[in-house]
Amino acid sequence: MNAPLRPSAWGLLPDEWKPLCKELGLPPFRAAQIVTGLYQTFALSWNDITTLPAEWRERLSQAFDLAPLEIAHIQHAGDDVRKLLLRCQDGECVETVMIPSKGRLTQCISTQVGCNFRCAFCASGQRGCVRSLTAGEMVGQVMAACQLMRADQQAVGVPATDGAASRSPGTKPSLPRPGNIVVMGMGEPFDNYDNVLRALRILNDQKGINIGARHITLSTCGVVPGILRLAEEGIQFELSVSLHAPDDDLRSHLMPVNRRWPVAELITACRAYFEKTGRIVTFEYTLVKDLNDRPQHADALIRLLRGMPCKVNLIPLSPVEGFDGERPSDRDCLAFLDRLLKAKLATTLRKSRGKDVDAACGQLRLRTLA
Ligand code: SF4
Repeated sequence: MNAPLRPSAWGLLPDEWKPLCKELGLPPFRAAQIVTGLYQTFALSWNDITTLPAEWRERLSQAFDLAPLEIAHIQHAGDDVRKLLLRCQDGECVETVMIPSKGRLTQCISTQVGCNFRCAFCASGQRGCVRSLTAGEMVGQVMAACQLMRADQQAVGVPATDGAASRSPGTKPSLPRPGNIVVMGMGEPFDNYDNVLRALRILNDQKGINIGARHITLSTCGVVPGILRLAEEGIQFELSVSLHAPDDDLRSHLMPVNRRWPVAELITACRAYFEKTGRIVTFEYTLVKDLNDRPQHADALIRLLRGMPCKVNLIPLSPVEGFDGERPSDRDCLAFLDRLLKAKLATTLRKSRGKDVDAACGQLRLRTLA
């Protein structure tokens, strides 16, 4: 497959438009009009930015794509979760998930088409990585969700607004947007480090989509150099690490990445991330019946994480084609949770949202490829 045909306008940081305008021969004040058009009025095409002269709208449309990713398919779950299959310019498809909770929307975005890491209970890795996404394609997933949120509001007659109480009087209401971003969809973010960081900076930028760093969570399967590099970026993104097993034997069986960066090295990197950023790392631990959900596994996890400021998020397995593990009973999940809590490990048991759609990442795309 070819790379996207035109770069996406969503892939530029707001402050990059000024020098770009200069380069293109546009007066620098046009940059502010472009940024307002992109992030305040959420233009769907260059023609929507009517403050720009028609000739320049045409020139910009030839240079930059300005459409959110096309929604190819929507799966609805009973608990209002929606999984979208989005089509890129080159025809490749990625998934994003919209998860409403307590008046906020959390959006899970993808960073690659497929994935190279082949974790056992993940559909994204089953066919390898086709290509990495550009920053514009990652921001484009958020824009697609914004469009859908606006359509939802219009359907019930709510005026377009993001609900930002602090907006100054007289400023134009803008599109609703997700309150939280989790980078946990298809792909390993640190396998596409530069594009992912650029996308997250755009989402975080006050002149851009303006989602606070602490509302952005980056999830890795355990790519140690990526963790150490992120610690040096000077941004307080939340870091989540897929651990899933407390020792090397079991973890290498479930997650081939562990053969490259074993558990001890991973935990040392996570400690370094906390020391550098002050942000507590969350460890994701998918519970699989009789595989990693026994009391001895809980005790090994307690020993591994003892004394480390961190959180553990337990997730009962969602069924994945190609992995024959089973979801533990509710009683066993609660017993595992209880053991960790008694050892004073901050632990939550996650309700798996979207159970009646293809719940694990990558499954919707695989189904459409089958
Ligand atoms: S869990 Fe993440 S890193 Fe592992 S195969 Fe799936 S997408 Fe890739």
